[in-house]
Amino acid sequence: MPDASNLPAERQFDVVVVGGGLAGLYAIHRLRGMGLKVRAYEAGSGVGGTWFWNRYPGARCDVESLEYSYSFSDELQQEWKWPERYGTQPEILRYIEHVADRFDLRRDVELNTRVKSAVFDKQSGDWTIVTDKGEAVRARYCVMAAGNLSTPRVPDFKGIGDFRGKWYHSGLWPHEGVDFTGLRVGVIGTGSSGVQMIPIIARQAKTLHVFQRTANFSLPARNAPMEPERESRHKADYPARRRAAYDTPFAIGGYPKPTQSALATSAGDREAAYEAKWREGGSISFLYAYNDLLVNKQSNDTASEFVREKIRGIVTDPKVAELLAPDDHPIGTKRLCLDTGYYETYNRDNVTLVDVRSDPIAEITPSGVKTGSAAYELDAIVFATGFDAMTGALREIDIRTTAGDTLAEKWEGGPLTYLGLMVAGFPNLFAITGPGSPGVKTQMIASIEQHVDWIAGCLGHLRANGLDRIEASPTAETGWVAHVNAVADGTLYPLANSWYVGANIPGKPRVFMPYVGGFDAYKRRCDAVAANGYEGFVLSRSAATQPA
Ligand code: FAD
Ligand code: NAP
Repeated sequence: MPDASNLPAERQFDVVVVGGGLAGLYAIHRLRGMGLKVRAYEAGSGVGGTWFWNRYPGARCDVESLEYSYSFSDELQQEWKWPERYGTQPEILRYIEHVADRFDLRRDVELNTRVKSAVFDKQSGDWTIVTDKGEAVRARYCVMAAGNLSTPRVPDFKGIGDFRGKWYHSGLWPHEGVDFTGLRVGVIGTGSSGVQMIPIIARQAKTLHVFQRTANFSLPARNAPMEPERESRHKADYPARRRAAYDTPFAIGGYPKPTQSALATSAGDREAAYEAKWREGGSISFLYAYNDLLVNKQSNDTASEFVREKIRGIVTDPKVAELLAPDDHPIGTKRLCLDTGYYETYNRDNVTLVDVRSDPIAEITPSGVKTGSAAYELDAIVFATGFDAMTGALREIDIRTTAGDTLAEKWEGGPLTYLGLMVAGFPNLFAITGPGSPGVKTQMIASIEQHVDWIAGCLGHLRANGLDRIEASPTAETGWVAHVNAVADGTLYPLANSWYVGANIPGKPRVFMPYVGGFDAYKRRCDAVAANGYEGFVLSRSAATQPA
């Protein structure tokens, strides 16, 4: 590690932020606005995070753009025009770049720079951050805005290095784009990324083989150009709409809170309700049809079966339809996909669904994909195989203290946090939307803003009280982890083998990572913790800054 004991002033900061996505950028803006000296590091060659990396065909948000956008500046939300109901990846990236320029954020982001280690000096109370360029900087506080879905994962298939064609991962897509025209293409993975890209690749490719291990539920997005009237109506009371959204479990507004169980209505009424939601498009709307779809299996069965019936109605080959109809998890317990023409794609003559659950992929050969019983000749392979979610980015950084504690060891059995914001034993280190936070189960920009605002409030409190160190107490952390698990156990979520439990990464401990008690409840809890003098945290002054 480079010597960081005597760094020049330009390498010393109040806060180092890791990541230049939506979270990192807002953290710079908010913390700089408090007069703090901030430096952010971003591994990519541009800002934008998710929306910088995931450039695959069809990538777009699955939360409506009037919601999936920053709320911190009313001028910004008033002036930005979203051309469609759901923004495309290029449009969202353009928006993030606009924000970076409008608020002059770029000057504090060092691009093309990956943080390799972060070490807390228990004596001085500073973090030393070392980058892949071998440079060291020091900061009193460190904010990990490194993303939950930012560590792309290609399964460890035998023979992948010998493939003669080209292969791609959805989360590392080439900036120049990929033209699949006339090619024999294979897509491995049918999560949200696969579901978005498959209809588009199918239209370009000569043939498309989709290798599906687990069928996922997908609903029609019903994307459309933005209706000017709708936009004006929304913008006329934007702040009030945001406030109302933040009072809901998913931080998404516009849907009346359901009050009835799915089992309290007749089969006919239920069918009509689901049909209306199917026509309206959107996942939250559908899951809001009744108040118990995510907690009562019998209720959920009615919604799951409705969608399975839709699949059977769309896909003409009954065998293919049955393979596409999910039967291993209740709807909504994995990220519910939104699509445009996904199931219809399987009616095309050039598209073949390959069931790799019954006949797993054995290896990648120089000419394609080989399962246990068949070989598929391919010119290109797309891995839509997801991410080492929620803990991957932090585990790739060597986070430790001079007392010898390492985050990797601490999280060996699964991540432990207090409120998803801090980890006992690692003072002055904050995480944005990490494990134990509701982030990934919400409109994520709302959670990002809430987390960053809470951190800003916390740093303001420390400063006002002549303090500079905050650490989660082990008891508070244990209590929060138990609460996160108890809440999850009261729902149907643990029934699914999802990235929420790390099931997509062989060997990853099976622990339910997000907080599913709702954004509204979480925000109230964070506010109460702060109002009670940062209950569950130990606040102090570093020895090195004690008055003589
Ligand atoms: P990210 O955008 O992941 O940014 C983290 C950044 O940190 C990355 O750029 C990464 O390069 C950088 N980084 C990581 N480690 C290091 C390191 N060691 N050193 C330096 N830099 C590092 N959420 C929704 O709410 N609605 C949606 O519709 C939605 N759609 C999505 C679509 C896709 C394809 C994906 C993958 C995710 C989607 N999400 C969606 C979740 C999305 O990740 C968040 O909404 C949001 O973009 C997260 O922002 P972030 O800044 O926290 O993390
Ligand atoms: P994902 O949901 O984790 O899906 C990965 C897919 O790859 C799954 O179908 C998985 O099958 C399959 N897979 C993994 N390893 C495999 C193997 N060895 N053999 C065969 N199949 C394998 O990843 P994602 O689609 O990239 O989405 C991740 C998250 O990003 C989403 O849940 C969502 O939060 C976000 N996202 C959102 C959007 C959007 O619509 N806005 C778009 C993309 C991503 P198994 O299920 O069997 O493991």
